Amino acid sequence: AKSAGGSRFEFADAEADARAITRHGLTTALPAALERGEFFIEYQPLVHLGDGSVHGAEALVRWCHPQHGVLGPDRFIPLAEHTGLIVPLGRWVLQEAVRQARFWQTQTPYSAAGGPLRINVNLSPTQLHHPRLVADTVEVLERSGLEPGALCLELTESALIGADEDLLKPLRQLAEMGVDIALDDFGTGYSNLANLRRLPVSVLKLDRSFTRSMQQQPADPVDVKIVEGIVALAHSLELAVTVEGVETGAQAEQLRELGCDTAQGWYYARPGPPERLHALSLADAV
Ligand code: C2E
Ligand code: CA
Ligand code: CA
Ligand code: CA
Repeated sequence: AKSAGGSRFEFADAEADARAITRHGLTTALPAALERGEFFIEYQPLVHLGDGSVHGAEALVRWCHPQHGVLGPDRFIPLAEHTGLIVPLGRWVLQEAVRQARFWQTQTPYSAAGGPLRINVNLSPTQLHHPRLVADTVEVLERSGLEPGALCLELTESALIGADEDLLKPLRQLAEMGVDIALDDFGTGYSNLANLRRLPVSVLKLDRSFTRSMQQQPADPVDVKIVEGIVALAHSLELAVTVEGVETGAQAEQLRELGCDTAQGWYYARPGPPERLHALSLADAV
């Protein structure tokens, strides 16, 4: 008979193996999965903090894997990024999300706050480096009939900080067309605030880590000060501030008082199928 220690060791080993196989298996399965249409998009509403009306939605991709069930993006986006499949996958997400947004607009032309419903799409660093980014985006917009001003591309801070002028050029072109560029997960990386000025961004998405302490009231006064400072800076640079991970009403209220513009989080809605957002914005319009 084996000692307990021995079997524990073997168990840990087998687990590591399974993980490695899954990682490898997932990576090699990605291209066929895209062809077979195993990816789908959930939408999470973005809400105006002022009046609670729906501003738009963020597209969040999922993989309905035939063996493993529904996998979140953290399981496969890094793999797709590594192999380059993120380019066709990202293009599919963009095309599908833009088409969906255009459909919402034809159903409910205006959200209660007055503007057309908007769509936020995540862009990975590899997509940013791809020479066809601008051409593909223009083509997707033209084919759908969505106006460029209704699209917001979200890029993480780490993809942009330190970016040279060549890398920023396609973003500038998109921004000139009216596409919004959002700096996602703001505050998680090494934030060079002075750098913000030279980036063609119009939205800061404040990471959940800043707003987490406001779930319970009273919130940590230092976090409150930090958010206050970021909002003041962002507004002085004419950037809008979106907050992520809003899970409680108290948190929403505090972030509204601090001057944040839009919010996203479970307090309003979890990511869900496109019909749900349609229902939300309809309810909103009456
Ligand atoms: P992200 O862009 O920061 O997206 C926000 C994440 O927070 C989403 O996780 C969302 O489901 C989750 N979330 C929303 N509200 C709350 C809340 O109130 N509390 C908590 N705890 N979480 C909340 P998800 O869907 O698992 O996506 C994870 C990441 O995967 C995203 O982070 C984004 O970086 C990436 N991602 C998703 N879709 C795409 C895509 O189409 N392309 C690329 N390149 N990346 C994507
Ligand atoms: Ca995002
Ligand atoms: Ca984020
Ligand atoms: Ca994140």
